[in-house]
Amino acid sequence: MLTHPDLQTDALDYLVGELSVEKRAQLEGHLQQCQTCVAEMAEIASAWNRLDSYPHEEPSDAVVKTIERTIAAELRQREYVVEASPWSFSPRQLVEMTVGTLLFSLSSVAVLAGVVNLEVFSAPTLLICGSLWSALYLFAFALYFCAVPSSSSRLNLRVVAFAGLVTVPFSLVEDYFFPLNSLVHRLTATPPGIDTPSNISLASFFLIGGSLYALVPLLLISFIFGNGLRGKPGKHGLVCGALFFVLSLPAVYLQCGTLSPAVELSWMGGTLAGAVTGAVIGFSLRQYRKLSDI
Ligand SMILES: [Zn+2]
Repeated sequence: MLTHPDLQTDALDYLVGELSVEKRAQLEGHLQQCQTCVAEMAEIASAWNRLDSYPHEEPSDAVVKTIERTIAAELRQREYVVEASPWSFSPRQLVEMTVGTLLFSLSSVAVLAGVVNLEVFSAPTLLICGSLWSALYLFAFALYFCAVPSSSSRLNLRVVAFAGLVTVPFSLVEDYFFPLNSLVHRLTATPPGIDTPSNISLASFFLIGGSLYALVPLLLISFIFGNGLRGKPGKHGLVCGALFFVLSLPAVYLQCGTLSPAVELSWMGGTLAGAVTGAVIGFSLRQYRKLSDI
């Protein structure tokens, strides 16, 4: 029986003279006795010739110039995007950052001065605390205004910083009207003659109290303002909780006053745990709500 060669692959090589001598002889031998392949070969050859007859024109100078200009403009734009730092702010944003930082710092100090006897601290300690606090607020405002793109793969710093900052006044209200320190001391007050509460029970009171004081406002705020998030509520909650914790550290430190270091640490630990838990739950609930709305 006659076996036809694979003209789809061999015909072009044959036409341009790139078929091996052996294959070439085989093909020519086959063509002498197979009319089907001769016909197919003729078709491929005529298509090949038609392709070859298209004029090979160079693009005109005008077209080349236009393409070059487009590419150059594209490159310049990309360079601009890379060079423009996300941490460069407009004058208006700088003013808003400064005013916000001043407002937050002053109201924080005013609230604490009303709650705590700041005289137990030395002047340098208070000065360091105050400037650290201002620096932290400034950092949070910078996070809010910075232009890091908030695609789904990255953190939406705007939402995170906003929720962290808005929670601050709420926690100041808590500190002002229900100072944790006096609350715990009232709860653990003992009649005279009975031993005063040990440091361990005091520490656990501050751990629970501190976490509730951070959890409740952050949960509410992150739920209310978590609308702008596109996924990853856990990651956002973690960063938001940590930011709020850092912002509230000076307040916790100043309110601890003469408490023992163990109690101070458990208050801070409770604040961190409560803040992260509250923000994660708040953002997650919001995401869940959004999903169920659709
Ligand atoms: Zn054939």
